[in-house]
Amino acid sequence: MSEPLVPDVPALFDLTGTVALVTGSSRGIGRALAEGLAGAGATVVLNGRDPDRLARTLDELDARLGGGRVHAYAFDVTDEAAVAEAVARVETEVGPVGVLVNNAGVQHRVPLVDLEAADWRRVLETDLTSAFLVGRAVARSMINRGSGKIINIASVQSDLARPGIGPYTAAKGGLRTLTRAMAAEWARSGIQVNALAPGYLATEMTQALVDDADFNAWVLGRTPAARWGTPADLVGPAVWLASPASAFVNGQTIFVDGGMTVVV
Ligand code: NDP
Repeated sequence: MSEPLVPDVPALFDLTGTVALVTGSSRGIGRALAEGLAGAGATVVLNGRDPDRLARTLDELDARLGGGRVHAYAFDVTDEAAVAEAVARVETEVGPVGVLVNNAGVQHRVPLVDLEAADWRRVLETDLTSAFLVGRAVARSMINRGSGKIINIASVQSDLARPGIGPYTAAKGGLRTLTRAMAAEWARSGIQVNALAPGYLATEMTQALVDDADFNAWVLGRTPAARWGTPADLVGPAVWLASPASAFVNGQTIFVDGGMTVVV
């Protein structure tokens, strides 16, 4: 009998035996991605700064997924020493990180002419530098093992510039090019680095925008899908990028935006 040309499809998306670290996963998009990756079989590691919120999320996911599938480590992704220590602990206590999702992020809505430099730095540190710090920490052991997947959560703001969120736009644009730089350096070590660029998703980060009637109408009019996205909309693309199904995809940004970036 000849060898099958197409691999076993369910196995392509199976993450059993993989440890996935999702930064900023105590709520919102990160939490949904953690639950989705666990649904594909991964053991997941949650993260956030607020230990109480993290503990509540751990309890909720434990109850849904069964004990032992979810772990939680509170640390600040902008703190170089804390990142190094936490990643070392995760790799010893849970296992080598096979999938990293750089998801932690903040927004600060102030026009550039009024923006304090400290706020510029805080957004750049959280939304861009953190991906370098956590990415570098996991890549060192991924390179030794010859495999690994890194998914950076960018934004449509990496492509479109809406007034009032300058540092966020700059950070997310930088995250897309950092994705290419990481892929270029690490592809030969068996590591894939890709980005997901979500459109407007209803989460705590965007709650004030959802509640603002004018902004809400702008999002619905500007998005061909005519709705806000949900964190669940990102789960399928993230599982694909985390799994063997995307084995030949590297350095790319996949827009998950209901078509927002293809219309003028
Ligand atoms: P939320 O504000 O709902 O959640 C942010 C998460 O990041 C929380 O778990 C928060 O926990 C954590 N976090 C923030 N700062 C740090 C830090 N310094 N160290 C560790 N954890 C941190 O945001 P969303 O779920 O909406 O967004 C998640 C990602 O998706 C962000 O990168 C965002 O830019 C991106 N995105 C969101 C879109 C949207 O429409 N919602 C659209 C496009 C992209 P804690 O505060 O306890 O640290």
